Amino acid sequence: MTQHSPSLPESDGQDQFAKAFHTGPDAMVISDRDSGRFREINASFTERFGWSREEAIGRTSLQLGIWRSLDERQRMLDSIDAEQRIDGFEVTLLTRAGEERSARVYGCQIELQGHICLVLTIRDVTRLRAQEQALRDSQERLDLALDSAQLGIWDWHIPSGMLYGSIRAAVLHELPAQDFHGPFGEFFACVDETDRRRMRQAYARLAKGPDNDYQFTYRAQLQSGEVRYLESRARLYRDTEGKPLRMAGTLLDITEQVMRERTLEASEEKFASLFQGSPDPICVSRVRDGEFIEVNPSFCSTFGWRAEEVIGHSSHLIAFWADHRLRERLFEQLMRDHSLQNAEVQFLTREGRSITCMVASRLIWVDRQLCILSTFRDVTRRQQAEAELKASQEKFAKAFHSSPDAITITERDSGRYIEVNEGFHRLTGYRPEEVTGHTSLELNIWGDPEERTKLLAALDRDGYVHHLEMCGRHRDGHTKTVDVSVEPIDLGGTACLLLTARDTSELREAEARIQHLAYHDALTDLPNRALLMDRLKQQIALLQRHNLRGALLFLDLDHFKHINDSLGHSVGDAILQMVTARLEASVRQEDTVARLGGDEFVILLTGIDGSRLETARRVRQLAEKLRDLLAEPMLLDGHRLQITPSIGIALIPDDGATPEDLLKRADIAMYRAKDAGRNTVQLFHASMQKAASERLRLESGLRMAIARREFSLHYQPQIDSRGGRIVGAEALLRWEHPTQGAQSPASFIRVLEDSGLIIAVGHWVIEEACHTCARLLAEGRIDIEDFCLSVNISPRQFRQSDFVERVLDSLDKAGLPARLLKLEITEGIVIQQLEDTIARMQRLRQAGVRFAMDDFGTGYSSLTYLKRLPVDSLKIDQSFVRDAPNDSNDAEIVRAIIAMGHSLGLELIAEGVETPEQLALLEEQGCHLHQGYLFSRPVPLEAFIDLLPPRDRQGAP
Ligand code: C2E
Ligand code: CA
Ligand code: CA
Repeated sequence: MTQHSPSLPESDGQDQFAKAFHTGPDAMVISDRDSGRFREINASFTERFGWSREEAIGRTSLQLGIWRSLDERQRMLDSIDAEQRIDGFEVTLLTRAGEERSARVYGCQIELQGHICLVLTIRDVTRLRAQEQALRDSQERLDLALDSAQLGIWDWHIPSGMLYGSIRAAVLHELPAQDFHGPFGEFFACVDETDRRRMRQAYARLAKGPDNDYQFTYRAQLQSGEVRYLESRARLYRDTEGKPLRMAGTLLDITEQVMRERTLEASEEKFASLFQGSPDPICVSRVRDGEFIEVNPSFCSTFGWRAEEVIGHSSHLIAFWADHRLRERLFEQLMRDHSLQNAEVQFLTREGRSITCMVASRLIWVDRQLCILSTFRDVTRRQQAEAELKASQEKFAKAFHSSPDAITITERDSGRYIEVNEGFHRLTGYRPEEVTGHTSLELNIWGDPEERTKLLAALDRDGYVHHLEMCGRHRDGHTKTVDVSVEPIDLGGTACLLLTARDTSELREAEARIQHLAYHDALTDLPNRALLMDRLKQQIALLQRHNLRGALLFLDLDHFKHINDSLGHSVGDAILQMVTARLEASVRQEDTVARLGGDEFVILLTGIDGSRLETARRVRQLAEKLRDLLAEPMLLDGHRLQITPSIGIALIPDDGATPEDLLKRADIAMYRAKDAGRNTVQLFHASMQKAASERLRLESGLRMAIARREFSLHYQPQIDSRGGRIVGAEALLRWEHPTQGAQSPASFIRVLEDSGLIIAVGHWVIEEACHTCARLLAEGRIDIEDFCLSVNISPRQFRQSDFVERVLDSLDKAGLPARLLKLEITEGIVIQQLEDTIARMQRLRQAGVRFAMDDFGTGYSSLTYLKRLPVDSLKIDQSFVRDAPNDSNDAEIVRAIIAMGHSLGLELIAEGVETPEQLALLEEQGCHLHQGYLFSRPVPLEAFIDLLPPRDRQGAP
């Protein structure tokens, strides 16, 4: 080192100086001012620039290639020239290895040994520069980052209240687009008043500690009136004592996000209320596992599930789809097309009921899961309605075309035919294509113009016509009786009339046949009892009016039963026919020969002029003649037979004023004749009147019976043979006499009727029946839909002026639904005062009470009445039922009644069914309801209850 020590002045001060020169950390050089040659360098120079002392001294910096920029060298020299010194002149120098070094040069001119020299200290600032650059770079990067994140920054010096804001921060606050330096208040001037208050509160909380992080969103009010949402995140810095010192943070414009959230919120709200309030079922299910995520109330109510039973379960698990293959197909389609429109699908409700829906589905994302949003529209009802409509249209078309009746549809205003059916062709001979567009007038369809006027008048008045009997004309001229009904209908907005015309000639024939059968004895074709009584009644009135007399001859063949039993029925029948012929031959045309049944005949003689005695004599004469005539031997099957009669005679009107009385008295006289040894004639005599007193005895007994509660009701079940169920019962009156025991209903009810007591007793019957029925209903023993209690109503009772009210009152008191009560009436009721009868029946029927026509077939059995009467059922009289299996005539009556009932849409009940044969015959004819000993006799209430199905089974399917 010593040999290298610089040649500096060798004084003490100089020595120290030299030491500093050589050991200083900075590179130092001394160069000749004019030549630029280095006179001295120090060790640091060698170290930093790579030139040894030997290589450097005597050479210039130019020769060593130290300068990167000669301009820089010149400027430095100029600077030294001007000021004799430089102080931290920045240069870039090159090392021997060519590396660049940033340096700061300090120095001055001095005079050394007569030469002007430069003493320069070169401080290497390369590292510092690099650090500065790095800082600048990172600042730039930060700015860039902040900028690209659109973040503004601010820095608030709390003690001074001064705030720095970046350009972006300033712009966000609508301040000039430059860095902001100014008071805190000025920077935040645009902040909404309420937000500013909140901001202060938030800062106060923060200042209290311990937290230092702060996040706050506030609104900046822009000049344009718009509002900007700014989010600030900041940190609070404290001094060593923990007092707030600085706060610095970022600023972000989140207006768009806020707005987006707002609209999202609003739309979510909208969706939620749409979802919840939708009348159509909606569900959201997850694609991954098919589980329901959400269902709306309509979904629950439509499909019967509670939300919690569905959510979290798959449709598969709750068996939602009726058809799984369809589900898979639609799922694939949805995955492919991302949506599904109007797919018609059947779903099953919780109860397993099928519901048809139109389904629309689309894919949506919910909580980052792919889901299916499906809406359903229940079209089950619509489909049903469509199907029903179609079915009813088809039904109508079928009914229209296949109806045996003639049906036409005409335009109301013009009367032109729009459509007619095959039945119309049959009835009139006109084919549909011949009449369409024409009117009935043009075709001359109606046989009687007056009838047509009546029809139109009724239509005008009531708007419809029901069952008007009219005369219809075939195109070939012949006429037919038709039953016409007209209903207004609307066809696609055109007012039309639907007219049905039924050819009633066949029905009329059936009616006549029934009438004849009902009034005549099949074996002999003689009038039967009914017809006899009818004629008798007429004759009584007629004779009275003309002050004439008549007679009733009751004729019974002696020992006929014996002949019948020994020779057989065919012989018996032949005898009866022969007797008939002989009787008919021996009376006048106007007289009536009737057969009451068996071997009983009755002859009604009329129009006899003369005193009682005279008449009696003449009638007796005739009777004797008849006796002789009948006694003539008959040859039958090789047998020679002699038949003798016993004849009883009652004179009209001397021996009675009613058919029943007269017949009974003739009967009494006949028995007297039998008693007198047969083959005789007996005239009725008052002494024979035992029956009358019997009746009186009965009547007085009956008068007390009500008060003494001797009456009761028995119940006879009515059965539907198709299921063997009891569908009703008939209440039958019973009388238990305190000493004479049970009385025959047939006789005591007659007396009740004759005496008028039936009104009081009949009323009791209705009350009692209603109560019993209500009790059975309450106890669950009978089904309101499937039971009906029948009560017999006698004509006298029915005619009472308050009859309807009394029935309704009884129902009311018992609390019995009217539909459970059926009133059995006989044709006797009907014939008298038809209009009044219909009106009464109608009123009861409106209340729900039903009607049955009792003993049908024995009375008038007239279609005219039957069609007009609001009856629900016909009861086929037991006399026909009884003999139907053995008697073809009765069988035919039964058949005809059933056919008639069916064609009028009435229910049919057969009475007095005692044998399986009778039942089989009825069944075969389509009559399934029956009542009779075969199933049960009329029984007391408790026994009847035992016949009913046990309580718990009642109503079970
Ligand atoms: P009805 O209305 O024709 O009643 C049916 C009658 O046939 C009952 O006779 C019944 O016991 C009987 N019967 C039922 N099934 C059979 C069977 O299989 N074979 C036979 N031979 N007969 C059967 P009952 O109880 O003697 O009544 C006679 C008539 O008395 C009844 O005839 C009815 O007209 C009248 N009647 C009964 N109760 C009342 C009532 O409360 N009020 C009124 N006004 N008349 C009543
Ligand atoms: Ca009856
Ligand atoms: Ca009956």
